[in-house]
Amino acid sequence: MGDHCEQTIRNLSRYIDRELTEADVRKVKAHLDDCPPCDEVFEFQAEMKRLVRKECCTDDAPARLRAWVRQLATEKPKPAG
Ligand SMILES: [Zn+2]
Repeated sequence: MGDHCEQTIRNLSRYIDRELTEADVRKVKAHLDDCPPCDEVFEFQAEMKRLVRKECCTDDAPARLRAWVRQLATEKPKPAG
């Protein structure tokens, strides 16, 4: 995984939540267009976040999935160095 991939994956969560600056959004978008593996990770995380939101209104989802999704959604990258 190259530097761009690592940086993109780190930014994905904030990208999906629209918390990035416009410049960072552009960088992530450009990378996702060029890099199918990262695009797959993006699709996966976006789907997970959709599930989390849906679960706010329903108790149907199994607790284990809910806990796992919450962990994914809140995972923060460690600061470099
Ligand atoms: Zn990539």
